[in-house]
Amino acid sequence: MRFEVSKVLDAIESRLTTDPALARAALDLSEVVRYADLDSGRPATVLRLGLVIDALGRHVSEENVPVYAIAPRALLSDADLTSNERMVVRRWADDGKVEVLPQIEDRVYEVAELLGVPVLTRSRGTQVAAARPWVGEPARLLAAVPGAGGPVLVARVGRGEVPAVGERSPIGARLLARIWRCPEPNCVSFGAGGDTDSPFADMRTKTSPVAQPPPTLRGGVPSCPRHGTKLADAGARPAVEVLSVRIDGVIRQRFVVAEGHPVVVGRAPEGGGIMLGQWLTDDARKWISRGHALFALDGDRLTVRDVSTNGTGIRPAGSPDDDERITLNRDETRTLGSTDVVELYANVNVGRARMWATGGVSQPSSVMAEAPTMAIRKFER
Ligand SMILES: [Zn+2]
Repeated sequence: MRFEVSKVLDAIESRLTTDPALARAALDLSEVVRYADLDSGRPATVLRLGLVIDALGRHVSEENVPVYAIAPRALLSDADLTSNERMVVRRWADDGKVEVLPQIEDRVYEVAELLGVPVLTRSRGTQVAAARPWVGEPARLLAAVPGAGGPVLVARVGRGEVPAVGERSPIGARLLARIWRCPEPNCVSFGAGGDTDSPFADMRTKTSPVAQPPPTLRGGVPSCPRHGTKLADAGARPAVEVLSVRIDGVIRQRFVVAEGHPVVVGRAPEGGGIMLGQWLTDDARKWISRGHALFALDGDRLTVRDVSTNGTGIRPAGSPDDDERITLNRDETRTLGSTDVVELYANVNVGRARMWATGGVSQPSSVMAEAPTMAIRKFER
């Protein structure tokens, strides 16, 4: 039993991010763990975060949708969680996967406003509506409630549509255009971390400048949400482009390409990258190289370089017409137009995330897949 539960927690972990370019919703972890009506189980369990993440995936019809989870420090010692869960949440906090604060106050709503994502909450948020008009709109407050096929997200009023990718509040756009530095040497979110080009940079600073979470505003001053200290402006944040992997019409994963941080996409790229192998048919797996196409950003110019054995196709404006398909051979590079679709194999595509409004899947795979049916109810302390 313990084994399966830890696998579920690993699956949940893979859906936690504080990267403003990738997070699709913000939530208060200490609220979600107490949604006992979702499974009629213990007063609190971290497994409910998985149920809520699944509900978000179904809501946006997309695979592998990540959330920005925030927790008050008190959750790390919450006696209603199992000791294993407390340990896991502590590790997530240390790794910067979950933002842990002395007090949450209205940080969840602030993050939602700055990133342009909805808040997953059951609170009505009327005071927040007055203080933060951007999130106050009911459609941006989605409550996870029990449903026939697992929990569903409902907006109290309106249709509850998730805002379009990259639709940020003006203040969010301003804050997220800069890199911020916390004076606390070990700050996991805004730490100096020495030379970011060092091969060990990841071990010192868990969060790369490109993926830095948003600061909190204290009296209008950008501050560290964890330490409460004033942040220093460390320069412009590199430009980013969010791309989607779309296989047979289903968005499998989004990823970020930033200036100076190119990304390889392929069957199983060596040294990291976006690994497609698990989603490919046998024929596609034979055709697509381990590392197949390299995406890079130079200013606002997004380029693709073929690094494969069999070549890469580009379909201008996603055109299905084979006469319009452009072939890139090994080491050839091309700048991608705003609606160009890169084709690694038939129906194995990469393109800008904003091109595809829906994820194209009615029943995304669940982070709870490894959970035994009764895991939540019966899991003993
Ligand atoms: Zn800090």
